[in-house]
Amino acid sequence: MTSENHPVKCGAKNDLTDLALFGGSALFDKFLSTSNLVKPSFDVFLDYSKIFYTQGQYTNRGPLSQMLEARLAKLHDVKHCLVLSGGFWAVVLSLKCLALTGRKNVILPSYTYRKLADIVSWAGLSPVFCEVDASTLAMSAETVAPLIDDNTAAILAVHPIVNQCPVDDLETLAQSRKIPLVFDSVESTYETVNGRPIGSFGDAECFSMHASKLINGFEGGYVTTNNTELANQLYAMRAFGFVGQDEVVTFGMNAKLNEVHAAMALACLDDLDSQIVRNQERYRTYYTEFSTVPGVRLLEFDEAERCGYKCVVIELLESWPLSSEVTLKLLHAEKVIARAQYTPPLHHVSASSEVRNAEMVVTNSLAGKYLLLPSGHTVECADINQIAELLKYIASNSKGIIAEINGRSL
Ligand SMILES: *Cc1c(COP(=O)(O)O)cnc(C)c1O
Repeated sequence: MTSENHPVKCGAKNDLTDLALFGGSALFDKFLSTSNLVKPSFDVFLDYSKIFYTQGQYTNRGPLSQMLEARLAKLHDVKHCLVLSGGFWAVVLSLKCLALTGRKNVILPSYTYRKLADIVSWAGLSPVFCEVDASTLAMSAETVAPLIDDNTAAILAVHPIVNQCPVDDLETLAQSRKIPLVFDSVESTYETVNGRPIGSFGDAECFSMHASKLINGFEGGYVTTNNTELANQLYAMRAFGFVGQDEVVTFGMNAKLNEVHAAMALACLDDLDSQIVRNQERYRTYYTEFSTVPGVRLLEFDEAERCGYKCVVIELLESWPLSSEVTLKLLHAEKVIARAQYTPPLHHVSASSEVRNAEMVVTNSLAGKYLLLPSGHTVECADINQIAELLKYIASNSKGIIAEINGRSL
């Protein structure tokens, strides 16, 4: 056991003033972030790039975009995949196409990705926030059902960072109430539900290929669906609403993915299996190292399903001696750029939204409880060991730390 009398030592930290927040030098030379930033082979990226460059087709459904769409459709075991300029627009366009006419509201969780309410607004709709389940951190049929009414245009189901929301129950609910169901599946890109790949559930599923996500296309996104009519509408919508030369068939915008982004994403797909092995190794290292950090619990992936192991989330338990704000301050000073998961929740920050489930007891209770820890391409297993030692040092010296913070008015 460690105690205040026998404080744990962490690498270079022997004294409180060795903590970077109190003037010591940072534990790391480089910033460790929660962004994936996966870096596939440059040669593979160049080899793909030569294809579009030689043909002189830089965008507008070029050869690489089509190759990428076919590869992603296979990964997700789905009929159609459309690549887009970003995940944001993937969700906007899907909602725009699927929302029931004459209705305004989209049900989505408040405890989620911070830009989702904006996405709903860009689709010309209004967010209505539902609760999440406190044990899975995911929305469920039970949290959505009470909010469905005559003005519900669509349900936007978002998978949590670790594991998935209850897909079957949500599908059953949506079908029985005849409400379109769109999934934001960014956090579950590589995963399966009962062995079936994410990608063909609901009416459409949306993904991001931003550099921070599992598949890095610098920027980019895509929609998957088995609905051919929807796919055709989206093909037109992403390219100004045109079909062929100039026949306008739908309201449109420019949300096309260009070929150099497709080249990067294809290089990432070639590397995906080995990326998963590396992610899993980091996750397992966290798992082992954090079993001895007091006051925290690592969220475990359901390994009966296929997992991407991209993000690492810990819960700060009641016994963790510091607030999440102070914990993050200490970590950031050491260049460990951990982040509070989904804090603040959307119903606290969204000016335009209608908050009918005004109490939001569960969601409010989650704020600041979960931290995302550094993961992805730039994080080595040795770094994880250091992060665990740092947290142990912080836990066993918490009284001194609080006194120091109060004394310095930090
Ligand atoms: C990143 C992200 C998006 C937006 O994707 P972009 O490609 O950055 O536009 C949407 N939803 C979730 C859950 C995300 O994490």
